[in-house]
Amino acid sequence: MNLMEYKAQELFGRFGLPANRGVLVQSVEELAKTMNSLTYPLVLKAQVETGGRGKAGGVRIVKNKDKLLEEADAILNLNINGFDVKKLYVVEALNFQREMYVSIIFDRAEKVPLLIFCGNGGVDINEIAEEHPEDIIRYHLMPGMGIRGYMTDYILDKSGMSRNLKESLQDILEKLYALFLEKNALLVEVNPLVLTDKGELVLLDGKITVDDNALFRHEDLLAYRDEMEDNPLILDARANRFLYIPIEDAGTIGVISNGSGMIMSSIDLISRKNLTVKCALDLGGGATAERIKEAVRIVLSNPDVKLLFINIFGGITRCDEIARGVKLAYAEADYTIPLVLRLEGTNKEAGLEIIESLPVSFQLSDDLVDGVEKIVEISAVGEQL
Ligand code: GDP
Ligand code: MN
Repeated sequence: MNLMEYKAQELFGRFGLPANRGVLVQSVEELAKTMNSLTYPLVLKAQVETGGRGKAGGVRIVKNKDKLLEEADAILNLNINGFDVKKLYVVEALNFQREMYVSIIFDRAEKVPLLIFCGNGGVDINEIAEEHPEDIIRYHLMPGMGIRGYMTDYILDKSGMSRNLKESLQDILEKLYALFLEKNALLVEVNPLVLTDKGELVLLDGKITVDDNALFRHEDLLAYRDEMEDNPLILDARANRFLYIPIEDAGTIGVISNGSGMIMSSIDLISRKNLTVKCALDLGGGATAERIKEAVRIVLSNPDVKLLFINIFGGITRCDEIARGVKLAYAEADYTIPLVLRLEGTNKEAGLEIIESLPVSFQLSDDLVDGVEKIVEISAVGEQL
């Protein structure tokens, strides 16, 4: 998961780093309320999960109140690389003499973190790497080693900066590394780190990527992830420990299955028949009737789903549990959406008996390929697909 600048700056602050923090607003009205308490000039910064904001007009300096709301409105109406700007970070502008780049990235090839520094930052690091590869300093950080004083000395010398900055740069690198380790980050990037006119080092823009597999350890980041998500069905599924995946906007089929392999094969086979999947829900491990019921409820609450395909191999999850769950869901909400149910495995007979009295049109199948054939049959009959 990528953290937007304002969240990265908040984390930097929490780790004692000198970040240029600002206020986050979501509308011009909200900004209007705080505009008298701000210190000008200001920098207005679009918050989007993509790079290149500056070039797209998403970073603007405003000298005084006159043009503030107009500029803010313009940014909040931008779409940058396909992302609508919904949040604006408003920070006090700083005067600086120099921009630098610093990051710690997890180097998968070497299996250790890599510290990268460049004395000429601000611009895209890929551009620097192409044009001035010799300007980029790299240190692999071996476990237990930490940021060594000689690294900081070399960075300052090579960048032509005064060793008077050693203490503050050392402190910044150590804290960035602590954040990287503690938050299970794959990337912590500051671009630019600036040397202000007052001779202080300040983090002006940041990006943090956290390992999704470690998110469960970080309640604050899980909360942030939910804040960022505006699809209520994804949130609903998450709260139930399911994974809801929107597939195609124009899709009409909902798929419920167990495990990503099964989901992908279902989608592939359905797509090959020129039918389109709207969404898929991964149940995760074994599921009880109650959980199956919730899964069906979530998928069918998408109004575009006109057919439901449930493809679960009844192993640890028994077929009678699956059937009971499906029946419970349909009974609770009077759904009329037709169903194709693959029911195979433990307690299949008991499952068939339960599902027999389902009040909507349904088809049963023994395996995935046959299940997809049944979907095709129903689709040929029902005009709605
Ligand atoms: P990015 O384009 O998404 O990387 O956004 P940044 O926050 O890095 O800003 C882009 C550039 O805008 C920086 O490299 C600076 O040159 C400039 N900039 C950002 N904040 C300030 C500021 O407080 N003062 C000044 N003078 N320039 C700034
Ligand atoms: Mn930047």
